[in-house]
Amino acid sequence: MRKTVIAANWKMHKNLSETEEYGQKLMTLLASPLDAEVVICPAFTSLQVLSKTLEKSPVKIGAQNLFWENSGAYTGEISAPLLLDCGCRYVIVGHSERRHLMNESDASINRKLKAALNNSLIPIFCVGETLPERQNNMARQVIKEQLSRGLDEVSLTEGKIVIAYEPVWAIGTGINANPDDAQEMIAFIRETLAGLYNMELAQSISILYGGSVKTDNIADFMDKKDIDGALVGGASLNVHDFARIVRLG
Ligand code: PGA
Repeated sequence: MRKTVIAANWKMHKNLSETEEYGQKLMTLLASPLDAEVVICPAFTSLQVLSKTLEKSPVKIGAQNLFWENSGAYTGEISAPLLLDCGCRYVIVGHSERRHLMNESDASINRKLKAALNNSLIPIFCVGETLPERQNNMARQVIKEQLSRGLDEVSLTEGKIVIAYEPVWAIGTGINANPDDAQEMIAFIRETLAGLYNMELAQSISILYGGSVKTDNIADFMDKKDIDGALVGGASLNVHDFARIVRLG
Protein backbone atom coordinates (compact mmCIF):
# COMPACT_ATOMS: atom_id res chain seq x y z
CA MET A 1 0.00 0.00 0.00
CA ARG A 2 1.47 3.33 -1.06
CA LYS A 3 1.18 6.37 1.15
CA THR A 4 -1.15 9.15 0.00
CA VAL A 5 0.73 12.44 0.18
CA ILE A 6 -0.92 15.85 -0.11
CA ALA A 7 1.74 18.55 -0.16
CA ALA A 8 1.36 22.34 -0.22
CA ASN A 9 3.89 24.46 -2.07
CA TRP A 10 3.46 28.01 -0.85
CA LYS A 11 6.20 29.32 -3.16
CA MET A 12 7.20 32.91 -2.25
CA HIS A 13 4.09 33.70 -0.19
CA LYS A 14 3.12 34.30 3.44
CA ASN A 15 4.94 36.29 6.09
CA LEU A 16 5.39 35.12 9.68
CA SER A 17 2.04 36.24 11.03
CA GLU A 18 0.18 34.79 8.03
CA THR A 19 2.10 31.55 8.52
CA GLU A 20 1.19 31.29 12.17
CA GLU A 21 -2.46 32.07 11.51
CA TYR A 22 -2.61 29.44 8.75
CA GLY A 23 -0.91 26.83 10.95
CA GLN A 24 -3.33 27.37 13.81
CA LYS A 25 -6.35 27.20 11.54
CA LEU A 26 -5.03 24.08 9.83
CA MET A 27 -4.68 22.37 13.21
CA THR A 28 -8.38 22.87 13.88
CA LEU A 29 -9.48 21.98 10.35
CA LEU A 30 -7.43 18.77 10.33
CA ALA A 31 -8.05 17.80 13.94
CA SER A 32 -9.61 14.42 13.17
CA PRO A 33 -7.32 11.56 12.08
CA LEU A 34 -5.80 11.89 8.62
CA ASP A 35 -5.56 9.21 5.96
CA ALA A 36 -2.94 11.15 4.05
CA GLU A 37 0.54 12.36 4.88
CA VAL A 38 0.14 16.15 4.80
CA VAL A 39 3.19 18.29 4.07
CA ILE A 40 3.43 22.09 4.01
CA CYS A 41 6.37 23.68 2.20
CA PRO A 42 6.55 27.37 3.15
CA ALA A 43 9.32 29.86 2.36
CA PHE A 44 12.55 29.32 4.32
CA THR A 45 11.71 32.24 6.62
CA SER A 46 8.50 30.55 7.78
CA LEU A 47 9.88 27.05 8.41
CA GLN A 48 10.65 27.46 12.07
CA VAL A 49 7.44 29.22 13.08
CA LEU A 50 5.33 26.72 11.12
CA SER A 51 7.05 23.73 12.62
CA LYS A 52 6.50 25.19 16.12
CA THR A 53 2.85 25.96 15.38
CA LEU A 54 2.25 22.43 14.05
CA GLU A 55 4.39 20.71 16.68
CA LYS A 56 1.48 18.70 18.07
CA SER A 57 -0.05 17.89 14.71
CA PRO A 58 0.83 15.04 12.32
CA VAL A 59 1.33 17.60 9.53
CA LYS A 60 4.93 17.57 8.28
CA ILE A 61 7.07 20.49 7.16
CA GLY A 62 9.06 20.68 3.95
CA ALA A 63 11.39 23.20 2.32
CA GLN A 64 11.21 24.30 -1.31
CA ASN A 65 14.91 23.93 -2.10
CA LEU A 66 18.29 23.06 -0.58
CA PHE A 67 21.99 23.25 -1.44
CA TRP A 68 24.03 20.07 -1.77
CA GLU A 69 26.86 20.86 0.67
CA ASN A 70 26.21 20.40 4.38
CA SER A 71 28.01 23.60 5.42
CA GLY A 72 30.67 26.01 4.20
CA ALA A 73 31.21 29.28 2.38
CA TYR A 74 28.08 29.25 0.19
CA THR A 75 26.54 32.67 0.62
CA GLY A 76 22.78 32.66 0.38
CA GLU A 77 22.37 28.88 0.38
CA ILE A 78 20.61 26.57 2.87
CA SER A 79 21.80 23.04 3.65
CA ALA A 80 19.98 19.85 4.58
CA PRO A 81 21.24 19.94 8.21
CA LEU A 82 19.94 23.52 8.58
CA LEU A 83 16.55 22.43 7.24
CA LEU A 84 16.41 19.48 9.63
CA ASP A 85 17.19 21.88 12.45
CA CYS A 86 14.10 23.94 11.50
CA GLY A 87 11.88 20.87 11.72
CA CYS A 88 11.82 19.85 8.04
CA ARG A 89 11.15 16.28 7.02
CA TYR A 90 10.67 16.90 3.31
CA VAL A 91 12.25 19.07 0.63
CA ILE A 92 11.04 19.88 -2.90
CA VAL A 93 13.81 19.25 -5.44
CA GLY A 94 13.77 20.15 -9.13
CA HIS A 95 10.59 22.23 -9.22
CA SER A 96 10.07 23.56 -12.75
CA GLU A 97 10.19 27.17 -11.55
CA ARG A 98 13.73 26.51 -10.32
CA ARG A 99 14.65 24.56 -13.45
CA HIS A 100 13.46 27.40 -15.69
CA LEU A 101 13.91 30.62 -13.70
CA MET A 102 17.12 29.66 -11.87
CA ASN A 103 18.53 27.42 -14.61
CA GLU A 104 18.72 24.37 -12.38
CA SER A 105 20.22 21.48 -14.29
CA ASP A 106 19.63 17.77 -13.94
CA ALA A 107 23.20 17.53 -12.61
CA SER A 108 22.56 19.98 -9.76
CA ILE A 109 19.20 18.35 -9.04
CA ASN A 110 21.06 15.05 -8.78
CA ARG A 111 23.45 16.50 -6.18
CA LYS A 112 20.53 17.97 -4.25
CA LEU A 113 18.67 14.66 -4.21
CA LYS A 114 21.78 12.93 -2.85
CA ALA A 115 22.26 15.61 -0.18
CA ALA A 116 18.64 15.31 0.93
CA LEU A 117 18.74 11.51 1.08
CA ASN A 118 22.11 11.44 2.86
CA ASN A 119 20.57 13.62 5.55
CA SER A 120 17.31 11.63 5.79
CA LEU A 121 15.18 14.38 4.30
CA ILE A 122 12.51 13.01 1.95
CA PRO A 123 12.82 14.71 -1.44
CA ILE A 124 9.70 15.54 -3.41
CA PHE A 125 11.41 15.22 -6.77
CA CYS A 126 9.54 17.13 -9.50
CA VAL A 127 9.56 16.22 -13.17
CA GLY A 128 7.43 17.51 -16.03
CA GLU A 129 7.41 18.52 -19.67
CA THR A 130 6.76 21.93 -21.23
CA LEU A 131 3.89 22.56 -23.66
CA PRO A 132 6.09 22.48 -26.80
CA GLU A 133 7.64 19.23 -25.58
CA ARG A 134 4.16 17.73 -25.16
CA GLN A 135 2.99 19.05 -28.52
CA ASN A 136 6.05 17.52 -30.21
CA ASN A 137 5.38 14.13 -28.61
CA MET A 138 8.52 14.43 -26.50
CA ALA A 139 6.89 14.29 -23.07
CA ARG A 140 7.91 10.71 -22.29
CA GLN A 141 11.47 11.19 -23.45
CA VAL A 142 11.84 14.37 -21.37
CA ILE A 143 10.45 12.72 -18.26
CA LYS A 144 12.65 9.68 -18.73
CA GLU A 145 15.75 11.87 -19.01
CA GLN A 146 14.82 13.98 -16.00
CA LEU A 147 14.35 10.80 -13.97
CA SER A 148 17.47 8.98 -15.10
CA ARG A 149 19.75 12.02 -14.82
CA GLY A 150 18.26 13.23 -11.55
CA LEU A 151 18.52 9.77 -10.01
CA ASP A 152 21.94 8.92 -11.45
CA GLU A 153 23.82 6.86 -8.85
CA VAL A 154 21.12 7.55 -6.27
CA SER A 155 20.42 4.48 -4.19
CA LEU A 156 16.85 4.31 -3.02
CA THR A 157 14.94 2.23 -0.55
CA GLU A 158 11.24 2.19 0.22
CA GLY A 159 9.67 5.37 1.57
CA LYS A 160 12.74 7.52 0.96
CA ILE A 161 11.49 9.62 -1.94
CA VAL A 162 8.29 11.06 -3.37
CA ILE A 163 8.00 11.95 -7.06
CA ALA A 164 5.75 14.71 -8.38
CA TYR A 165 4.65 14.79 -12.01
CA GLU A 166 4.08 18.45 -12.77
CA PRO A 167 3.51 19.30 -16.43
CA VAL A 168 4.91 22.83 -16.75
CA TRP A 169 1.95 24.06 -18.79
CA ALA A 170 -0.43 23.15 -15.95
CA ILE A 171 1.43 24.96 -13.16
CA GLY A 172 -0.26 28.14 -11.99
CA THR A 173 -2.27 28.37 -15.21
CA GLY A 174 -5.63 27.10 -14.00
CA ILE A 175 -5.40 24.51 -16.79
CA ASN A 176 -4.97 21.17 -15.07
CA ALA A 177 -3.90 18.08 -16.98
CA ASN A 178 -6.66 15.72 -17.95
CA PRO A 179 -6.71 13.09 -15.15
CA ASP A 180 -6.44 10.29 -17.74
CA ASP A 181 -3.33 11.90 -19.25
CA ALA A 182 -1.85 12.41 -15.78
CA GLN A 183 -2.53 8.74 -14.97
CA GLU A 184 -0.82 7.69 -18.18
CA MET A 185 2.27 9.80 -17.49
CA ILE A 186 2.47 8.70 -13.86
CA ALA A 187 2.19 5.04 -14.90
CA PHE A 188 5.05 5.77 -17.31
CA ILE A 189 7.08 7.30 -14.46
CA ARG A 190 6.50 4.15 -12.42
CA GLU A 191 7.55 1.98 -15.35
CA THR A 192 10.72 4.10 -15.76
CA LEU A 193 11.49 3.74 -12.05
CA ALA A 194 11.05 -0.02 -12.37
CA GLY A 195 13.65 0.05 -15.14
CA LEU A 196 16.06 2.19 -13.12
CA TYR A 197 15.57 0.16 -9.91
CA ASN A 198 13.10 -2.69 -9.74
CA MET A 199 9.35 -3.24 -9.90
CA GLU A 200 8.93 -3.72 -6.17
CA LEU A 201 10.56 -0.39 -5.35
CA ALA A 202 8.68 1.37 -8.17
CA GLN A 203 5.40 0.06 -6.78
CA SER A 204 6.22 1.41 -3.33
CA ILE A 205 7.00 5.01 -4.37
CA SER A 206 4.25 7.60 -3.97
CA ILE A 207 3.88 9.61 -7.17
CA LEU A 208 1.89 12.85 -7.00
CA TYR A 209 0.23 14.98 -9.63
CA GLY A 210 0.78 18.76 -9.53
CA GLY A 211 -0.53 21.59 -11.69
CA SER A 212 -3.70 23.59 -10.97
CA VAL A 213 -5.05 21.09 -8.42
CA LYS A 214 -8.15 22.52 -6.73
CA THR A 215 -11.01 21.44 -4.50
CA ASP A 216 -13.14 20.62 -7.51
CA ASN A 217 -10.65 18.41 -9.38
CA ILE A 218 -8.63 16.62 -6.67
CA ALA A 219 -11.08 13.69 -6.48
CA ASP A 220 -10.74 13.04 -10.23
CA PHE A 221 -6.98 12.70 -9.86
CA MET A 222 -7.18 10.58 -6.72
CA ASP A 223 -9.51 8.14 -8.50
CA LYS A 224 -6.66 7.11 -10.79
CA LYS A 225 -4.79 4.01 -9.82
CA ASP A 226 -1.22 5.31 -10.08
CA ILE A 227 -1.85 8.81 -8.66
CA ASP A 228 -0.96 8.79 -4.98
CA GLY A 229 -1.57 12.41 -4.06
CA ALA A 230 -1.00 15.99 -5.10
CA LEU A 231 1.45 18.85 -4.93
CA VAL A 232 -0.72 21.93 -4.59
CA GLY A 233 0.47 25.48 -5.27
CA GLY A 234 -2.09 28.28 -5.59
CA ALA A 235 -4.98 26.42 -3.96
CA SER A 236 -2.87 25.63 -0.89
CA LEU A 237 -2.59 29.30 0.07
CA ASN A 238 -6.16 29.32 1.33
CA VAL A 239 -6.25 27.11 4.41
CA HIS A 240 -9.91 26.12 3.95
CA ASP A 241 -9.33 25.06 0.35
CA PHE A 242 -6.20 23.13 1.29
CA ALA A 243 -7.96 21.33 4.16
CA ARG A 244 -10.75 20.34 1.74
CA ILE A 245 -8.19 19.05 -0.74
CA VAL A 246 -6.62 16.96 2.05
CA ARG A 247 -10.01 15.51 2.99
CA LEU A 248 -10.92 14.72 -0.60
CA GLY A 249 -7.48 13.30 -1.36
P1 PGA B 1 -0.27 25.26 -8.88
O1 PGA B 1 1.27 24.96 -8.58
O2 PGA B 1 -1.08 24.32 -8.03
O3 PGA B 1 -0.46 26.70 -8.51
O4 PGA B 1 -0.49 25.00 -10.34
C1 PGA B 1 1.74 23.65 -8.38
C2 PGA B 1 3.22 23.67 -8.11
O5 PGA B 1 3.92 24.54 -8.65
O6 PGA B 1 3.73 22.83 -7.37
